[in-house]
Amino acid sequence: MSTKPLDEPARRFEELLGPGSVITDPVRLRTYECDGLTHHRVTPGVVVLPSSAEQVAAVVRICNEYGLPFVARGAGTGLSGGALPRADGVLVVTSKMRRILSVDLPNRRATVEPGVTNLAITEAVRDLGRYYAPDPSSQQVCTIGGNVAENSGGAHCLKYGFTVNHVVGLEIVTPDGDIVELSDTDPGYDLLGAFVGSEGTLGIATKVVVRLSRLPEAVTTLLAAFEDIERGGQAVSAIIGGGIVPAAIEMMDALAVEAAEAAVACAYPEGAGAVLIVELDGPAEEVAHQFGEVTRICRESGAFEIRVADDPAERASIWRGRKSAFAAVGRISPAYIVQDGVVPRTALPEVLASIDALSREYGIRVANVFHAGDGNLHPLVLFDDAEPGAAERAEIVSGRILDLCIEHGGSITGEHGVGVDKSRYMTKMFSDDDLNTMQLVRCAFDPRGLSNPGKIFPTPRLCGEVPGVRKGVHPLVESGQAEHF
Ligand SMILES: Cc1cc2nc3c(=O)[nH]c(=O)nc-3n(C[C@H](O)[C@H](O)[C@H](O)COP(=O)(O)OP(=O)(O)OC[C@H]3O[C@@H](n4cnc5c(N)ncnc54)[C@H](O)[C@@H]3O)c2cc1C
Repeated sequence: MSTKPLDEPARRFEELLGPGSVITDPVRLRTYECDGLTHHRVTPGVVVLPSSAEQVAAVVRICNEYGLPFVARGAGTGLSGGALPRADGVLVVTSKMRRILSVDLPNRRATVEPGVTNLAITEAVRDLGRYYAPDPSSQQVCTIGGNVAENSGGAHCLKYGFTVNHVVGLEIVTPDGDIVELSDTDPGYDLLGAFVGSEGTLGIATKVVVRLSRLPEAVTTLLAAFEDIERGGQAVSAIIGGGIVPAAIEMMDALAVEAAEAAVACAYPEGAGAVLIVELDGPAEEVAHQFGEVTRICRESGAFEIRVADDPAERASIWRGRKSAFAAVGRISPAYIVQDGVVPRTALPEVLASIDALSREYGIRVANVFHAGDGNLHPLVLFDDAEPGAAERAEIVSGRILDLCIEHGGSITGEHGVGVDKSRYMTKMFSDDDLNTMQLVRCAFDPRGLSNPGKIFPTPRLCGEVPGVRKGVHPLVESGQAEHF
């Protein structure tokens, strides 16, 4: 009888977790073959669904015994292939770990398991006048564990900050299977800060302590329509330059509006070349004053229509188009790439004009949706995968947009992580020395390189190894865990 390398560990996982929590059936395994970035697909060797930190730790220790790579997965909404599994490894899915363990109002915090969705935290505390501030558009489904790993953002991060600003404690399972607590009050190096945004390469978060924010006294949302994106951009600069920090300031171009209209009939003003959504929150008097200023600035910048919402239903209606924008482009294009890059806010007009030029040069439509206040672009690169060469041209446009971001002093990712998709761009942003230093941090947590290997870094190295001429094939390369470029 032939046995596969994963048969024995899979049996051990079943003893530990019970048969319902281990998936080895090839058809069911395919459910987990990709995240939101669907053009990278790998069927995992085994999927496990632990229910507690102790079970995660035991799974990781078994992985260590057999030298198996493991990858954590929350809801699989990531857009950089961060949760892409390994065919020779174990996918640790947190969907059974979704309890809100405690809410501590006096200390403004909640302790939750990693599989809890972002929105569920707010829903659990809204009646207490609190909410969890970072709000990815995927917040109904993405998990807090995934948010921690990606240091996720969202529309309200301009004023309130990213996940890293709202996580005050973590329980993690280290890559060798220990359960360790990290806190923002720990003396010494900021290991909590290092873990947030580490994309599953430093271990698996098994508990997250989040900061709760007080619901603002007043919220006003306005939508301003402009003939073109330049005028909308001028309004953004004038608002921020005028010292106003809105809770959110989001822009969509005409193509993105067309897609949203087709998908959710959001009824944005007709003929808009750009739509700006500005949300103001805080004490009622301050919001009223800022609202006057923002309206004036939008009109002076050329807004031809302004709509205002100050009750939750009207607000939801304004946000509906923006929040559905990524998925909505599926209505106007058979395939698309969601890109994520950052530029200094002042470079937005120039970069958007260059994206437009690229779009014409390659005959590939690009719809722009962006967190304008942060300079965080989300160009949606549209193509028809049935058209010969279109996917390749879209890939080139998508890569050249990242080049533009780097040239303008920005970054190759704002909030979606590097994952497997953008690791090849890391050498464009960072020197060998920079990357080696990052690898040293990784090696301090994960000396054997078992925790989500192949993500972030273009060429994984072993701990303590310096770049140089290697004789023979590196064991990591031989086992398919690393690649030489
Ligand atoms: C329609 C749509 C809209 C989106 N909008 C936004 C947005 O506005 N802002 C934004 O920032 N992102 C956005 N995203 C991207 C995505 O939702 C976020 O990156 C989110 O944080 C991923 O969470 P997840 O639970 O789906 O993680 P997954 O995709 O399952 O995993 C993401 C990464 O986290 C790691 N990971 C997961 N759980 C753990 C854990 N417990 N411990 C350690 N590592 C772990 C994985 O290994 C992987 O590297 C959007 C995605 C979609 C599809």
